Amino acid sequence: MSASLKLAVFGDPVEHSLSPRIHTQFGRQFEIDVDYRKIRASIAQLPDSIARFRAAGGQGANLTVPLKQTGLRLCMKLDQAARQASAVNTLVTIDGGWHGFNTDGPGLMLDLSRLGIGVRNERVLIVGAGGAAAGILGPLLLDEPQQVRILNRTAARAIELAERFQHRGPVEGAALNQARVEGEFSLVIQATSLGHDGSLPGIDRNWLTPDAVIYDLNYGPAHQPLASWCAQHALRCHDGLGMLVGQAALAFELWTGQRPDIAPVIEGLAG
Ligand code: NDP
Repeated sequence: MSASLKLAVFGDPVEHSLSPRIHTQFGRQFEIDVDYRKIRASIAQLPDSIARFRAAGGQGANLTVPLKQTGLRLCMKLDQAARQASAVNTLVTIDGGWHGFNTDGPGLMLDLSRLGIGVRNERVLIVGAGGAAAGILGPLLLDEPQQVRILNRTAARAIELAERFQHRGPVEGAALNQARVEGEFSLVIQATSLGHDGSLPGIDRNWLTPDAVIYDLNYGPAHQPLASWCAQHALRCHDGLGMLVGQAALAFELWTGQRPDIAPVIEGLAG
């Protein structure tokens, strides 16, 4: 290996993170020796924990639940996606501090492109209005869908999120249990945390076009309930592993200037 990189992901919990495996594999593509640690830190512990990491030579970091909002306050500079989403998932060292980025939404777009799923002129349903939905909305609207509707258990959160992005494209928010137009949506992005408990977000097949595609941000066992529902209804369905690897690839590029190939890494994790 010709170069080395000292990285870490901070979160709580963080033990389950696949990021060390992903970035080690990216490193191999460019002969970079990646030392990528998992560091457990609460919201209160993050400032000290990340300062210690940097003092010990840390060159870049990822933030995961529940630290993406807290991370904003640690950054001297933010990219547009982080500002729009009010959340940071990638930190890059700059003189005297950190530059914060949000690669979650761009990572989803990278994976949709890999899968040949277009957004332009499509009618898109986002189920969920939490941090992940906020992260994907800006990049999604850049691709000019005909319409984006956000449905959420707590309607006020969906409406507030839609209002924040209204100047960027045709987006509206409503309650998850509100009646829909038949055959309305051609792409559904499942962005709730349901699935981890084995349950489904309550999408009605009648809301969808016959050839609608479902993209679930969840992966692994949390994706299984929706995968089974899609199989029952003969719907094309993808899990969020590609988005996870996609956001990681964009972070790796920010740290190294090199864009890794995500396909073999996704295959390796899925296999
Ligand atoms: P948040 O906690 O910010 O948001 C959770 C969302 O799920 C909210 O919309 C919430 O609705 C909804 N929800 C939770 N419980 C229920 C329920 N019982 N019934 C209906 N809706 C419910 O989480 P994130 O937005 O950060 O993450 C969402 C999911 O996306 C997670 O499973 C996460 O693992 C995954 N994710 C995947 C990524 C990837 O790279 N593939 C990246 C980021 C996230 P309400 O507002 O009403 O509480």
